Amino acid sequence: MNGATECIFCRIASGEARAELVTEDDRLVAFKDAHPRGPLHVLVIPREHITSLADTEDEPLIGHLFATAARIAKAAGYAERGFRVFANSGADGGQLVPHLHVHVVAGRRLGDPA
Ligand code: 5GP
Ligand code: ZN
Repeated sequence: MNGATECIFCRIASGEARAELVTEDDRLVAFKDAHPRGPLHVLVIPREHITSLADTEDEPLIGHLFATAARIAKAAGYAERGFRVFANSGADGGQLVPHLHVHVVAGRRLGDPA
């Protein structure tokens, strides 16, 4: 896939498509989910086009994505109440957008995800 032109999350990472950014650095971009499932719902994505967790063994990057997601929840004041950080992978995992992304959802009591 030519990520820069075909992939919506590549387009958000490059600034070609609009999103409400939360934070960014040289490796990742975090932005608000277009259809939030809680008062806080942010997606954390690598700048690089990686399809899913099935397609990378880059542990520093995976750790950075998850650590950033947790930091966003804590910075928004949800450390004590709690929050959920997760990544859907592939069809059975419920992944709809084929660019690796970590969800962080907080602000309501979440049910069993499965
Ligand atoms: P998945 O099911 O792939 O884990 O989740 C994809 C998420 O991306 C969904 O929560 C959906 O609302 C969000 N999403 C899809 N397209 C866009 C978009 O263009 N902009 C933003 N901000 N979120 C999107
Ligand atoms: Zn992409």
